[in-house]
Amino acid sequence: MAEQAILSTDSVQDEWGQICSQLKTEVGDTAFESWLKPLTPGSFNDGVMNICVPTRFMRNWVITHYSDRIHKIWEKKNPAIKSVNFVVQAIQEESHGLYAPSCRSLLKKISSSPAPQNIYQSGLNSLTANSNEMFNNNEALSVPLNPQYTFDNFVVGKTNEFAYAAARKVAESRNVSFNPLFLYSGVGLGKTHLMHAIAWHIKQQDPSRNIVYLSAEKFMYKFVRALRYKDTTAFKEQFRSVDVLMVDDVQFMGGKDTTQEEFFYTFNSLIEEGRQIIISADKSPSDLEGIEARLKSRLGCGLVADIHPTDFDLRIGILENKARQMGIELPTRVAEFLAQKITSNIRELEGALRRVIAHSQLLSDKEITVDMTQDVLKDMLRSYDKRTTIDEIQKKVAEHFNISVKEMQSSRRARTVARPRQIAMYLAKQLTSRSLPEIGRKFDRDHTTVMHAVRKVEELIMEDSSLAENVDALRRTLEA
Ligand code: ADP
Ligand code: MG
Repeated sequence: MAEQAILSTDSVQDEWGQICSQLKTEVGDTAFESWLKPLTPGSFNDGVMNICVPTRFMRNWVITHYSDRIHKIWEKKNPAIKSVNFVVQAIQEESHGLYAPSCRSLLKKISSSPAPQNIYQSGLNSLTANSNEMFNNNEALSVPLNPQYTFDNFVVGKTNEFAYAAARKVAESRNVSFNPLFLYSGVGLGKTHLMHAIAWHIKQQDPSRNIVYLSAEKFMYKFVRALRYKDTTAFKEQFRSVDVLMVDDVQFMGGKDTTQEEFFYTFNSLIEEGRQIIISADKSPSDLEGIEARLKSRLGCGLVADIHPTDFDLRIGILENKARQMGIELPTRVAEFLAQKITSNIRELEGALRRVIAHSQLLSDKEITVDMTQDVLKDMLRSYDKRTTIDEIQKKVAEHFNISVKEMQSSRRARTVARPRQIAMYLAKQLTSRSLPEIGRKFDRDHTTVMHAVRKVEELIMEDSSLAENVDALRRTLEA
């Protein structure tokens, strides 16, 4: 019960009321009326407070401008609130059976429940369970699909045309064509979008086909739960009627041996029965880490399609497409500016565009110009410019100390190689958002070595001013 915070509906409403008055004084009446008043608190689960927002556009705006503040104020009032999440409460989607019932109706049900001191959490849990059955009709395994992620909304360019064609082929063919279809790419490049698009397409053509889409994490979670409740037979049963199984981000199964074993089993039996499987990951099957060899080879035995990082043309195409969808005229120069600057992935590109549009709309349709874009995205562009990669750090540090990158990654322990290696690890920790294990892998070491290197360099910087200067100079070149 320790982590299971309990909140009664009344106390949620109460706290929300107080938060609103505080926000009102902070942001002023006009902003409050436009953005904050329409919000309503919804379900509370696992430390996450869901807040309902009437439209997608508002949700984005509220997230960029108020979500941190709301979270801070609320957490201070009530430490059980670990984070806040904004949910679009859309009646239309509800009737398609894609999303849980609107928060308002949930709240109504809870507040009219007989026990006056009802436990918010458990009340919601049972409601959510019911609605799950309702909106997933026998697909309790699956998670809802995003209505925006369709083939129509997918912009095709050189970098993703192969993956797109493969996805379309799988979606359109009645008999299993490539099995499994394995999609891989870096983050934010459209894997999930393509998987949902396949699901939508199949559903539309033949609603009777049972499609299950879930993340590898969810698969693991379900499986671990089944183990805990000694209910693995029921777990397996759930997959028997599946016609199309999609598992997103299988790299998360790395190192989880029992789950892999189970997945392997499920996978094989579905393939044998001629069901379609679609998998995504951040790497090709053979490069996946911590995945058993036989599973890797099984994953790679159908069609493997990768999505490459975007190119300029695709970025322009995506910006034009999204702007059109939002009913906005995006000046060519602004599109070009964004496409030149935001090159990392499509998710960030979309985020940038949304910020610019929200800004112009808030200031009663202020014209979108390059200057204004630059101004609105100041922080983002700055951090963007600063972003370096571990490869780059290894290269620069190796050059600086006159060794090769190969030596840096080698097992040699001579001081002339070991010290630069430690410095590179230290800078990788400082200048990138990579985790210790991720950094370790780039150096062919484990995370404890990286941790040790970081501490060591921190100590050395205090003691040895010439080393400190060297590290500082390197940092400046990398950040430049
Ligand atoms: P991944 O699963 O590879 O991390 P997503 O599928 O979640 O990436 O894509 C990130 C965002 O970019 C989503 O909002 C998605 O709709 C959008 N997106 C990705 N590729 C395209 C594309 N080719 N055309 C339009 N939008 C795209
Ligand atoms: Mg994804």
